Amino acid sequence: MVAQNLEMLASQVADLIVNAKKVVVFTGAGHSTESGIPDFRSPGGIWDRFDPRDFTYQKFLTDPEGRKKMWQMHREGLMMGAQPNPAHYAIADLYQLGKLDCVITQNIDYLHQRAGVPEDQVFELHGNNKWIRCLSCGRRYPFEQIKVRLDASEEVPDCEICHGLLKPEVVFFGESLPMEALDEATTRSRRCDLFIVIGSSLVVYPAAYMPIYAVSSGAKLVIINLSSTPMDDQAHVLIHAKAGEVMPMIVERVRERLSR
Ligand code: NAD
Repeated sequence: MVAQNLEMLASQVADLIVNAKKVVVFTGAGHSTESGIPDFRSPGGIWDRFDPRDFTYQKFLTDPEGRKKMWQMHREGLMMGAQPNPAHYAIADLYQLGKLDCVITQNIDYLHQRAGVPEDQVFELHGNNKWIRCLSCGRRYPFEQIKVRLDASEEVPDCEICHGLLKPEVVFFGESLPMEALDEATTRSRRCDLFIVIGSSLVVYPAAYMPIYAVSSGAKLVIINLSSTPMDDQAHVLIHAKAGEVMPMIVERVRERLSR
């Protein structure tokens, strides 16, 4: 894409944001690739390195070897040490400018909150890797606390209180989505007037219903993604570019327009 086109597209999105009353941003794994976290489906992505069948909820509950593998992957920390990228900060700026209703994210990396979007305005459809929960007594531990035990060669840590099974608060394959986040995300998608998809292939359901709810309720749709998605033909503005490049351009233009 030539630079001039990107400038023009960024201005179009900025106009849509300034004129909208409720802007919802919906992010997927592609939003965090510039933070050094691979996505699932791009070449070299997570599913090129791990077998998704090893990470089902059923396997976690029933197979001690599966639990070992899961903790090994968690300890290796694909996402640990990752920092928010310019797209995360641009979205936090949008919030500061009063132009963000909420973020709905499929990501589990907690980077929107670390960039400055308040926790209660981020709806995590697939949980997050920051907290570990005991499946028996419900006690929550920060991952850092459990990591100390993993680093001290404990292969499958258990609950300090009741010795129940510990599990990261990440939604596994075959597990239900967190009901509260899903309900709120659905409501916010239905009542927004601008829905911006960033870095998602829009093929993972029920998360991918959110833009469908928004469009069918009359919202305008913007898609910022490197590759095509099944909803491209419904987008008012479609941008095939890196989120970390285009989001700061958009927010800079929003700022200019609001200060006029
Ligand atoms: P996906 O892997 O299916 O799609 C990612 C999309 O982002 C691709 O279409 C790709 O072209 C695009 N992309 C990659 N880098 C980009 C960039 N810099 N700018 C713009 N677009 C870019 O991811 P998905 O749609 O989120 O769905 C898959 C699942 O991945 C979700 O369930 C999510 O929970 C999980 N996941 C999360 C993380 C994370 O938390 N960071 C990482 C990997 C996977």
